[in-house]
Amino acid sequence: MQPDTFHALHLAPGTTLHEALARLDATAQGILLVTDDQGRLLRTVTDGDLRRAALAGTPSTAPLSALPTAHAPHTVNLQASQRDVLALMDAQRIDHVPVVDAAGRAVDLVTRRELSQRVYLSSPHLGDDEVALVQEAFASNWIAPLGPHVDAFERELAALVGVQHAAATSSGTAGLHLGLRLLGVGPGDVVLCSSLTFVASANPIKQLGATPVFIDSEPESWNMSPQALTTALAALRAQGITPKAAVVVNLYGQSAEMNTIVPLLEQYGVPMLEDAAESLGATYRGRPSGSFGRLAVFSFNGNKIITTSGGGMLVGNDAALIAHARALSTQAREPARHYEHHEDGYNYRLSNVLAGIGRGQLRVLEQRVQSRRAVFAQYRQALAGVPGLRWMAEPEGHRSTRWLSAFVLEGEGALARRDALLDFLERHNVEARPVWKPMHLQPLYAGCHYVPHAPAATGAVPSLASSPPSAGSPRGPTHDVSRALFEGGVCLPSGSNMNAAQRERVCALVVRGLELMVQTA
Ligand SMILES: *Cc1c(COP(=O)(O)O)cnc(C)c1O
Repeated sequence: MQPDTFHALHLAPGTTLHEALARLDATAQGILLVTDDQGRLLRTVTDGDLRRAALAGTPSTAPLSALPTAHAPHTVNLQASQRDVLALMDAQRIDHVPVVDAAGRAVDLVTRRELSQRVYLSSPHLGDDEVALVQEAFASNWIAPLGPHVDAFERELAALVGVQHAAATSSGTAGLHLGLRLLGVGPGDVVLCSSLTFVASANPIKQLGATPVFIDSEPESWNMSPQALTTALAALRAQGITPKAAVVVNLYGQSAEMNTIVPLLEQYGVPMLEDAAESLGATYRGRPSGSFGRLAVFSFNGNKIITTSGGGMLVGNDAALIAHARALSTQAREPARHYEHHEDGYNYRLSNVLAGIGRGQLRVLEQRVQSRRAVFAQYRQALAGVPGLRWMAEPEGHRSTRWLSAFVLEGEGALARRDALLDFLERHNVEARPVWKPMHLQPLYAGCHYVPHAPAATGAVPSLASSPPSAGSPRGPTHDVSRALFEGGVCLPSGSNMNAAQRERVCALVVRGLELMVQTA
């Protein structure tokens, strides 16, 4: 329902039955809201009400107030969940539920049609070849892990990303764990990591016994702040610490600022593990994302731009490292007739069946990138007039896949407005999510060091080796970019398989949801 359509549902009690019928026809929602001059909901009017009035001989020139008094309309308040609305619809056998604010004003309408058609954040989107490729695996009895699809999937992905070697893994997380281990990360080491990311970027650091130091985002692109990275590297060096690795995340389909980050890490002798789980298909200055790190990891989880239902890939140009990754991912068996082991390995290999799906998905990757970018373009155009909303930027030299379309609400009370918008969208059966909650704000990583984009107000170099920062450390909230992105940030449904009607529905709802917030503030 367009924002204008919602407003057109409101009629004054003096409106004639004839006008009401015409409005019902024009708005096509099956319901009208009769409101007083304050916008308070007096009653609803449906097709049935008008039909019964006509049969009873009420002239079409009579006002709506001449209709027989209805029972008080069934409504919910602004705190109601989608489940509350559905329960009311089922209990009362109705298909429309107006939402009223504390003053009794009709501020929203939920329809059963919406509740039967959920719009997902990012759902799998299969191409034409996957089934045949999986059938091939069945026909040739390559159901075990390892097999021709795995080898081909590795070759094809490596070629696409422009790297020499690739090892398919059971998940992106497994790939990150292997990658860090191959870079020699172990107990007592320090590993730098983007703070604004999914928890899987950081967990393997902890699981290997190392200590993460989290790095803030920069405000434009939301990716790792080169400024904060510089501060962290200098502060650690001052204490004689060289980080063992840096996990640099490419967020929501867009590469980090590699022109500054790569030389900076090289200067300090810190190898980069590029977390490209969200950026397959993106480029940075013409080079594919995932080709910048000493090692890089992709994910084929169900919500990613292409999927194998679950899977990942560790890539790099060092043949020995990737060969070692393959060995570690298959229990690190030594070449012997019996089972001989010198290293502790993992069961981290991708199955041949899933690799078949992956090969099919790779063939449609560029189409998926274009579709997601088109979704983003439509959002940006539709929401261009909405104040206080800033999209994740695509700076010069970047080509983002727009894996997720994300914006941040700016200004006072962003967190409350974000939550109100997410509640509103959820009530209309639209799955939207907050931007990742940064790692330095996660209870799991409480006490870990964090380097914000702008230096602390005192200008002092933060001590990173000793105890965690005290609660009163001089870091104004305005320095903490990733926190602000989390508090005001929203990811909208971005699937490549969303149809035009779904996209329009989400656009209209976002406009109306934000408008409602101003209205009820
Ligand atoms: C999805 C994701 C991962 C983890 O990948 P899985 O395949 O789900 O294990 C890691 N890092 C980031 C940034 C991700 O978005």
